[in-house]
Amino acid sequence: MTFEEIKALDEQYVMQSYGRFPVAVDRGQGATVWDTAGRAYIDFTAGIGVCSLGHAHPGWLKAVTDQAGKLAHISNLFYAEPYARVARALCTRTGMSNVMFGNSGAEANEAMIKLARKYSFDKYGMGRGTVITLRNSFHGRTITTLAATGQDVFHNYFFPFTEGFRYAGANDLDSVRAQAGHDVCAVMMELVQGEGGVLPLDRDFVQGVAQLCWERDWLLLIDEVQTGVGRTGSLFAFQQYGVQPDVVSFAKGIAGGLPFGGVMANEKCRNVITPGTHGTTFGGNPIAAAAACYVLDIMDDAFLKEVQAKGDYLRTQIEALGVPCLGKTRGMGLMIGVEVKGNQTNKELAAKLVENGLLILTAGPGLRLLPPLVVTREEMDKGLAILKETLS
Ligand SMILES: *Cc1c(COP(=O)(O)O)cnc(C)c1O
Repeated sequence: MTFEEIKALDEQYVMQSYGRFPVAVDRGQGATVWDTAGRAYIDFTAGIGVCSLGHAHPGWLKAVTDQAGKLAHISNLFYAEPYARVARALCTRTGMSNVMFGNSGAEANEAMIKLARKYSFDKYGMGRGTVITLRNSFHGRTITTLAATGQDVFHNYFFPFTEGFRYAGANDLDSVRAQAGHDVCAVMMELVQGEGGVLPLDRDFVQGVAQLCWERDWLLLIDEVQTGVGRTGSLFAFQQYGVQPDVVSFAKGIAGGLPFGGVMANEKCRNVITPGTHGTTFGGNPIAAAAACYVLDIMDDAFLKEVQAKGDYLRTQIEALGVPCLGKTRGMGLMIGVEVKGNQTNKELAAKLVENGLLILTAGPGLRLLPPLVVTREEMDKGLAILKETLS
């Protein structure tokens, strides 16, 4: 089908919940994708941080197809090897104790909130279900995770929202303290606010929140849906902050392109979820789990060092472009935000870049880059050249 044919079907038969770029992507290889007319684009989006090993990675493809030919799905009523191996890999490499699987980021965060409330309920009874989250955060699109998201624009239309969330300022420990009360069971936050604009939290703030949680027996819940699985140059971002969370959620990049996610808990929380208290049909799916095993195996220390080096390279080169509409960069590893200056909006700049062959994201008022973690020097240079040509 041509782009025009696909677009016509989309407009007629698909609910129009997205403002799409006018490109129909047909196939990909590494950090390059081709549209239906055969035109190439450099991909600095990785499907919003999902295709961590790029497109059509041969080892990933083999892991997926081998598992699909063996056992595509079996319910959680039976044991199967792939999810057990992912759980072991996650725990041994993070110091966490056990894992529960789901299929998306919002679902992982729902599970994390359920776990925190049950931890508190088991120990203190009713009335301690409030979770403090940060302003400008993003935690998902279900009714509960929208309520957890600390941005007013998300609190519309779908009333009534889930109760039990209060918001504090990012990097403002006093503001977190001001939300304290006998009803609080947890603090939940991203370490680099992704959708909010690629805003890394201060180390002192994160350690201060961790201390506060420890003093008051609140759980420290870290949403690593976007920052996790190598994106920031460590397997998880919390490993660069000198804190050990109680629960961590993950999704996006974990299975390199398949829907997969979940939460990992520390020793204190390992027995909170008991048979019948949480579940999902697809969670732990063998194909997605086999893909996740492969992704985690690839991400050894040398791989993660490379992610750091590539991120440093991209940021330095972007700042050296000398393009007037781009300001400072920020972020960690290959999660990069670029400040937009002048009278064109980030959306307008992104549209022009896509038109000229570079897929790129926006976040907050800036641009956002989440390239596949396997992006090559050549692909980065091609992307940088498009940035320069388009925006000069
Ligand atoms: C993307 C994202 C989510 C939601 O994940 P979905 O898979 O879209 O449900 C939650 N938290 C953060 C930090 C995210 O970046």
